[in-house]
Amino acid sequence: MIQKGRFEMENKLYDIVIVGGGPAGFTAALYGARAGHSVLVLEKMVPGGQMAMTENIENYPGFERIDGFTLAEKMKSAAEAAGAQTHMAEVTAMSLNGKEKTITTTEGEVKARAVVLAMGAVPRTMGVAEEEEMRGRGVSYCATCDGNFFRGKTVAVVGGGNSAAEDALYLSKLCKQVYVIHRRDTLRATRTEASRLEQAENVTFLWNKQVIALQHDFKLTGASLRDTQTGETSEIACDGLFVAIGRKPDTALVQDQLECTPEGYLVADETTRTSVPGVFAAGDVRQKPLRQIVTAAADGAVAAHFAQQYLEETAEA
Ligand SMILES: Cc1cc2nc3c(=O)[nH]c(=O)nc-3n(C[C@H](O)[C@H](O)[C@H](O)COP(=O)(O)OP(=O)(O)OC[C@H]3O[C@@H](n4cnc5c(N)ncnc54)[C@H](O)[C@@H]3O)c2cc1C
Repeated sequence: MIQKGRFEMENKLYDIVIVGGGPAGFTAALYGARAGHSVLVLEKMVPGGQMAMTENIENYPGFERIDGFTLAEKMKSAAEAAGAQTHMAEVTAMSLNGKEKTITTTEGEVKARAVVLAMGAVPRTMGVAEEEEMRGRGVSYCATCDGNFFRGKTVAVVGGGNSAAEDALYLSKLCKQVYVIHRRDTLRATRTEASRLEQAENVTFLWNKQVIALQHDFKLTGASLRDTQTGETSEIACDGLFVAIGRKPDTALVQDQLECTPEGYLVADETTRTSVPGVFAAGDVRQKPLRQIVTAAADGAVAAHFAQQYLEETAEA
């Protein structure tokens, strides 16, 4: 059951508090609660995170196809059936050092022996009119997730870094034609990524171009571009537009307490341990090569495992 409003037991000490109710958070909650710990998940918006806003998921093992909202509900119910609590509140401050950590939220304060940070990372958007409305109708932020829907079709990838190059290469193996739209005249991707892409026969680079508008009926039909040097405008026809201009990890609250990458991801290895004892980073918020539901869930399980180990060690100390 989701709890709202101020905490019934303000200042209660939980074994594990999880910040973020996406797949990473609810999996950590499931494993933590099943191991017999008191677990609280704090979620500021929608239980399920990015997953809850995804219409069709076809790459989560065990489901041929499932909508994200249903999968989110299933993950939340499983965690709660195991004994975890969910509370809808935004975490506004954290004090993570020491044995007892303090989590301040819009609904009051709680304490935790261990904290799992699972706040996710949201894709950066182009800021073009109707971009939000066209999400799921041709505009995508995840080639691995949605590429298969565009098999044999024409798509465009926006961006010039490694993610854009990887996405374009991935799509070139599925799609008839791939445009790479980049606002500069060379890729920022590493030479290896760039030369692989240059060799793909169905990839066309549109240099010094920026998307200024989306064309559509119900679904996307094309994009209007502006030349960043001359200001000239042009149009391309495409069925899909993959935006790969980076992600923004939701780590502003903890950047002064934990080691982060220059992009703001939390530094933690496969154990999910961060630079502060008792604090674990799971899911998209962690520095990692593949950000997917299955990898977020896997991180959640690992985080709960090492949190449990930490709780045992510190209880003995
Ligand atoms: C459009 C789109 C489609 C996708 N499709 C697929 C797909 O088909 N298959 C796939 O495997 N992956 C897909 N992904 C990627 C997948 O959704 C993510 O990798 C996954 O959701 C990451 O899980 P997470 O738990 O790490 O973070 P998130 O899902 O981002 O969840 C983080 C949660 O933390 C909450 N939060 C953040 N800050 C606070 C705070 N201060 N206080 C309280 N709560 C907070 C957020 O509200 C959010 O609910 C898609 C992503 C997008 C954007």
